[in-house]
Amino acid sequence: MRSARYVTCGMCGRWRPHNARGLCSTCRKRARAAGTLDDWPPLRRLSAEVAEDVEWLTGCPAEEITTRIGMTPSAIARALRRAGRPDLARAFDRLACAEQWARTKAAREAS
Ligand SMILES: [Zn+2]
Repeated sequence: MRSARYVTCGMCGRWRPHNARGLCSTCRKRARAAGTLDDWPPLRRLSAEVAEDVEWLTGCPAEEITTRIGMTPSAIARALRRAGRPDLARAFDRLACAEQWARTKAAREAS
């Protein structure tokens, strides 16, 4: 799941598969060749990366953010709390609740 993550590349600003340091693979190679890789610190904490992605996508519906980040709403909510952004986590809590409720309702209707 991690390898499928996309980021807005910190250097070229395009929506690309994440390679490392918040950069796409093209830009990471370019930065290494240019000797400027140290300008792009490693993203050590996944929760911080998630918070960053959610901040970038602010304004998009929570459903769309969930799809783009490739994590479940509850996993995103947990990551945001770890990253110190409980304010951003609430929308994903609501989405997790709605999905849980939809599953319960579907199961009830199927039986
Ligand atoms: Zn790039």
